[in-house]
Amino acid sequence: MKTNFVISSDMKKIQMVDLKGQYNKIKQDVDNSVLEVLDSTAFINGPRVHGFQKNLENYLGVKHVIPCANGTDALQIAMMGLGLEPGDEVITADFTFAATVEVIALLRLTPVLVDVDPVTFNIDVEAIKNAITPKTKAIVPVHLFGMCANMEAIMQIAEQHNLFVIEDNAQAIGATYRYSDGRKAKAGTIGHVASTSFFPSKNLGCYGDGGAIFTNDDDLAHTIRGIVNHGMYVRYHHDVVGVNSRLDSVQAAVLDIKLKRLDEYNAARQKAANAYNKAFSGQDHIITPSRQKSCSEVCENCDCHVFHQYTLRVLNTDRDALVKHLNDNGIPCGVYYPIPLHLQKAYMDERYNEADFKITNQLVKEVISLPMHTELDDEQITFITSTVINFINS
Ligand SMILES: *Cc1c(COP(=O)(O)O)cnc(C)c1O
Repeated sequence: MKTNFVISSDMKKIQMVDLKGQYNKIKQDVDNSVLEVLDSTAFINGPRVHGFQKNLENYLGVKHVIPCANGTDALQIAMMGLGLEPGDEVITADFTFAATVEVIALLRLTPVLVDVDPVTFNIDVEAIKNAITPKTKAIVPVHLFGMCANMEAIMQIAEQHNLFVIEDNAQAIGATYRYSDGRKAKAGTIGHVASTSFFPSKNLGCYGDGGAIFTNDDDLAHTIRGIVNHGMYVRYHHDVVGVNSRLDSVQAAVLDIKLKRLDEYNAARQKAANAYNKAFSGQDHIITPSRQKSCSEVCENCDCHVFHQYTLRVLNTDRDALVKHLNDNGIPCGVYYPIPLHLQKAYMDERYNEADFKITNQLVKEVISLPMHTELDDEQITFITSTVINFINS
C-alpha cells in the first residue's frame, strides 16, 4: 500500500537545483559585482577574470588556472595542450557525461571506454590496466558526482606506462583527495592537467557558461594560454592552431562572489547528504553513496565528497517506476546516466565486449539522483526520503 504524504502547504517547492534560492541570498553582492563590470565595459579578459583566476589558484593550491568558455572546451584544450595526436588512445570511464568522450573523438584520438567501480562509480583501476596498449597516451578519470577517482593508483599506473592524466573535475570542485599516507590535495590538482565546468548547476556555477583548466606545469600552462586565444603568444603571431575559448568578465564577477562561499556551499550539500543517508540507513534495497575508500567509514563532515549529485542504487526495484512516483509527488529527480557511453550510437566500437562493462550496464538500471543543492531543508528531505522508502517497500 502506498501512503500518500501530505505536503504541508508551507513546504518550499522541491527543485533538483535551487539557483534562485541561492541567488536571493547573495543578490546584493552579485549585483554589485556584475554592475561594476558593466560600468567598466571590460567584458573580455578584464581585471575581473584575472582576479578570479588568482583567487581560484589560491583556493585550489595550484600554480595555474586558465579560464575558458566551458568545461567541454577545457577538456579539449587540455588534450590539445598535451600534444595528443590522432590515433593516440585515451582511456576514460564508460559511466560519465558524454562531454568526456566527445572531445577525445573530436580530436581524432581513440577513446577507450572502460568499466567503473560499483561502490564509488568511478573508473575502475584494474580495467584501466587491462586497457593499456602501446598506443595508450592518456587516462581521463572523471571525479563523478563529487568524489575523486582513485588518483593514487591512477598516477602510479600513469608513471609506470608514461601516460598523461587529465582529471575531469567538472563535478568535484572543492573536494579534497586523501592519499593513503594522509596527505591531502584538492580535486583537479593531482594529474598533469585538469578541467572544470562552471555550468550554473555545478558546485561552483556561474550565470551562463564557463570553465577552466588547472595545471602545476609552467610550460603546459603557457602552451594552453596560447591555445585558448587562437594559438597566439605574441599578438597576431599564430604559432599553433588554437581556439577561441574565453570566460567573460560578467561570469568571472559572479564566480568571484560564489568562490568565497564554495566551502559553505559544499558543506550544505554534505549536510543534505548526511540527512539522506540517515533516513535511508537500514533500508536493504537502497545503497547510499560511498565516501572515499581511504577515508574513514564515518567521515560524515569531511570534504572527500562534495555531492554534485546524491546518487542511490536501488535494488530489486523498478527504478523507472520510482522516478515516475517521485515526479507524481512533486519530487524532481535525475537518472545520471541512463545509457552507457559504449552503447551510444556515436561511440559504439566493435572492439568493445559487453562482458567488460558489467558494472556500468548494471548501474544504468539502478541509479537515481535525488534533489541536491545548497538550499534543501529538513522538511523537504523528510518528504523526499519517506516517499522513496514508501515506494520501495510497497
Ligand atoms: C558538466 C560536465 C562537463 C562539461 O561541462 P560544460 O561546461 O557543460 O561544457 C564535462 N564533464 C563532466 C563530467 C560534466 O559533468
